[in-house]
Amino acid sequence: MTQTPMLEVRGLFKYFPVHQALLGSLTRRAHSSVKAVDDVSFALGHGEVLAVVGESGCGKTTIARTLIGLETPTNGEIVFDGKAVGARAKQPHISLKQLRQRAQMIFQDPYESLNPRATIFEIVAEPLVVHGMIKDRRERIAAVKSALEDAGLRPAEDYFMRYPHELSGGQRQRVVIASAMVLQPELLIADEPVSMLDVSIRAEILNLLRDLRQRRGISIVFITHDLSTVAYFADRIAVMYLGRIVEIGPAREVLKSPQHPYTKALISVAPVPNPRLRRERVILQGETPNPINLPTGCRFHPRCPVAIDICKVNDPQLIELSAGHQAACLLLTK
Ligand code: SF4
Repeated sequence: MTQTPMLEVRGLFKYFPVHQALLGSLTRRAHSSVKAVDDVSFALGHGEVLAVVGESGCGKTTIARTLIGLETPTNGEIVFDGKAVGARAKQPHISLKQLRQRAQMIFQDPYESLNPRATIFEIVAEPLVVHGMIKDRRERIAAVKSALEDAGLRPAEDYFMRYPHELSGGQRQRVVIASAMVLQPELLIADEPVSMLDVSIRAEILNLLRDLRQRRGISIVFITHDLSTVAYFADRIAVMYLGRIVEIGPAREVLKSPQHPYTKALISVAPVPNPRLRRERVILQGETPNPINLPTGCRFHPRCPVAIDICKVNDPQLIELSAGHQAACLLLTK
């Protein structure tokens, strides 16, 4: 019997309307939209880590925000542990409030995501208060202590009455992780959790996430633009370009044998510890096209080093190349 995935995303679209003031009028009208997420589907197993990678503006953060209900999908369905998310969904469904007890997000910026006026104890206890959980004071203190210590802040009591500005960047991100873990979620959505940190503490935070995943069997959607961190602990990789997944598959296979020209270019410029393993660098020409006016055909064709004429016309869909490894490129069509 196949297990129900922890998370399923089916045909997800998120468009942001662009408003323009009409000449001589005070009214504003949406005349086009930014296609931030444009027909994305994937599934995440229990205890699995899926890395979503791509350049800035590819839609990966919008996916993260939509998964946790901070953005409303324009279309499509998000299914958490077999239940559709949202009050309007058909049965069986799970409300956003229930989802946020079981799924938590770690934001990119530990400086902005912590309330500067709250103590560390108040910050980590807040999710328990919001969800009306653990009302007994002693049990609440024990839950906060355990979350802080799990996040590597020991002894936890030393941090209770401190404020975010008294901590280093790495310690703040540990507080963010503790406040996400205090509800004992089954799913973590980590949006570039180490990109604002010094290189010296990135490995510590990645180790912590890997450790939490191993000890708690938690599923993680790990959003990043940095392929070197992906290799570290992702089971699978989804590569995004302009709102679409262009390649998805087992991490080792995608990194060793990328099939989509965009993935090949990303991997070719990622740092590698052994210079002898470096591939020939593929430097993409031009800028990422405007997501309001997407190119016709394959949206990667204006920058693709191996594009052919038909790429300007035909829009490639993901095709299965081997078990669980898919890519969307017309050159791969059999
Ligand atoms: Fe490049 Fe054409 Fe493949 Fe798109 S379909 S990635 S433009 S070769």
